Formats: sequence, C-alpha cells, structure tokens
Amino acid sequence: MSLENPEHVAVAIVGSGMAGLACARALTDAGLQTAIMDKGRGVGGRLATRRVESFQFDHGAQYVTAKTPGFAQVLSEMKTANTAADWPIHGTGVRTVGTPGMASLAKYLATGLDLRQGLQVTAAVPTSAGWRIECKDSAPVIAACMVITAPAPQIGPLLAHGDSNGMHNTRLLEPLAAVAYDPCLTLMAAVEGNHAGFNTREDASDALAWIAQDSSKPGRSALNVATWVAQAGPVFSQDHLEKEPAEIAALMVPMLCERIGASPTQVVYSAAHRWRYARVRTPLGQPFLASSDQRLYLGGDWCLGARVEAAWQSGVAIAQDILLHTQAHHKPSDDA
Ligand SMILES: Cc1cc2nc3c(=O)[nH]c(=O)nc-3n(C[C@H](O)[C@H](O)[C@H](O)COP(=O)(O)OP(=O)(O)OC[C@H]3O[C@@H](n4cnc5c(N)ncnc54)[C@H](O)[C@@H]3O)c2cc1C
Repeated sequence: MSLENPEHVAVAIVGSGMAGLACARALTDAGLQTAIMDKGRGVGGRLATRRVESFQFDHGAQYVTAKTPGFAQVLSEMKTANTAADWPIHGTGVRTVGTPGMASLAKYLATGLDLRQGLQVTAAVPTSAGWRIECKDSAPVIAACMVITAPAPQIGPLLAHGDSNGMHNTRLLEPLAAVAYDPCLTLMAAVEGNHAGFNTREDASDALAWIAQDSSKPGRSALNVATWVAQAGPVFSQDHLEKEPAEIAALMVPMLCERIGASPTQVVYSAAHRWRYARVRTPLGQPFLASSDQRLYLGGDWCLGARVEAAWQSGVAIAQDILLHTQAHHKPSDDA
C-alpha cells in the first residue's frame, strides 16, 4: 500500500501484548474487524521469549496465575492445546508457563488475528470518521475506534499531535499521571553445571530479587547447560537503568554466579535486557479508560495490576464495552 493511501479498519489496536490480544480475540470472535499494530518484532510484549544460539530465555513474565474464572478457563484451554503446562517451583507449589516459551501464550491468542508486527504508531489524530493513525514508514490507518494498550507513560505522546478536541483527551489522560511503574533489569545466562539446589528463588530484600532456572520449565529442549534468568529488584534496576546492556550483564553475571554456586568461567552465554516499564507499582484501579464517544479506549496491565491476568482482564473489558456500544448503535430504532 502506498504511503498516501490510508486503509480503513473498524477497530485498530495498538499493542500485541496480552491486553491487546485479549481485546482483539474477543472482538474478532464476535465478528468485528480488528487490526493490531505493534512496534516489536514478536507478538506478546512483556510475554517474551528470546532465542539466541541454541538457548532460549523467558526474559519478561516468568509465569502466569489465574485468580478469575475467565482467565483460568483460557489457561485451561491453552494446556489442552499443549501451549501451557504446570511448572513445579521451589518450595511454593506449581505455576503455569507457556510451552515451549512464555511467548507461546500470546501466539495462541493471536492465531488468525490481523497482526502487524514491526509497525510503530507515531501519532493518532481524531477525525470525523474516528482516528487517523500515523505509522512509521507505513501508510496511515483510519479506524472508527482505537484501543491503545501501550504502557501508560507511552500513551500521552501518541495523542499529543493535532488534537482538535484537545480538552477532551487531556481530561481522559489525567488519571494516567497517577500510574507508576518499577523498572527491571534482567539477566539471561547459560551456565555449565548446576549446584544451585533450587530452580527458583524469590527474595525481595536481595539485589537479585528473582532467580529462575529457565531450562527447568516444561517443554524446553534438553541442553547440557542450564539457562538462568535473574531479575534485579527495583532499587538496583533504577540505579543502573541507563547503563548499556553489556555493562548491566557484566555487573549481574558475578551476582548470579555467587547465588547459584557457579564460577563466571562456567557462563557460556550472557545478555541483559532493560525493562523500563516492567511492573506496575500503582495501578489505575479500574479496567480501562474510554472517551465519551467510545472511539478511544486506553488499557493494559497498568489499569488493574502488575500481572498478565490483569492485562487480559483489561483487554476483555474493553472488548465487552466496544461490543455493547456497537450493538447499541446498530439496534433498530423504536419507530423503524
Ligand atoms: C521482567 C518482568 C517479569 C514479569 N513477571 C511476571 C510474572 O511472573 N507473572 C505475571 O503475571 N506478570 C509478570 N510480569 C508482568 C506482565 O508481563 C505484564 O503485566 C503483562 O505482560 C502486560 O501486558 P500488556 O498487554 O498490558 O502490556 P505489554 O505486554 O507491554 O504490551 C504493550 C505492547 O504495546 C506495544 N507498543 C507500545 N507503544 C507502541 C507504539 N507506539 N506503536 C506500536 N506498538 C506499541 C509494545 O511493543 C508492546 O508489545 C512481568 C513483567 C516483566 C517486565
């Protein structure tokens, strides 16, 4: 498509993380046309699995839990489809993980959806037809309704350009200012031998707040070296946030080795990832925000809390609201 020729869609969804996918899935299943745009290469957002050399690491969300029947049902379907499985973790029971990686949970929901990865939305401008969505190096998209599921601090800049009803959006965006995140620096390491005596360790008082032997998760390919993921706590992460990934890895490798009883000479691969908006510390407290004309919805985990399930709940709640208003618009009038 040429850069001048805008495409028209019913509902454009920014973000193919759990919130965007849950929303698109529910709308598509109800017969509405959706298009998901995400600047990332792979689907899933913070539900992420990195494959490098012969190794793989879940460097974002480590596992999922379900507190609501709806999400429990989704996880149950994923287990039946061999996309999720139980992971016994050290001392505290069993968690659900994606198989062969956490990103598989996202891929399952994405099946059959109109997904445009590697497409960065740069601005969204309200028009009489809904929204004109500007994309980097691609034609704009015109959408009757737009759902943005980016992390809360990244939403305002997208709506700041050419806002003809600026007051309207400004009011909608006001509650976002109260949403706060913690960053998380994450180390991925492949280490020969295994003397740790645990497959997970959680200690909020330690600079490495979470350590997991990724290769102990079900459905991972058998390797002769163990793969580990270590997440720094919020204080360490904030202190070293602006360092280069290679510097961060160099800092964290000895810390991991000390805790799992390995020598740095046993580390055959290491890399670090910087999650600037990793975990929601202060959520909004409601499942989404919507403009009064129901043409703009804002959602994501930042609405209800720092969990994959919270992102799913937000996405589903947005879809239900869109469907409610779509049906209302299409309802025959009394005198028809
Ligand atoms: C290190 C780490 C560990 C975690 N551990 C757990 C855990 O064990 N269990 C758990 O339940 N949760 C965990 N979480 C939290 C969980 O990952 C998130 O709550 C959830 O995945 C968020 O989903 P989301 O759809 O709201 O956002 P995201 O997954 O962040 O999706 C937002 C998407 O929007 C896209 N985007 C943003 N701006 C644009 C733009 N301008 N144009 C196009 N696309 C854009 C991004 O690329 C991204 O893919 C963890 C998170 C991190 C970072």
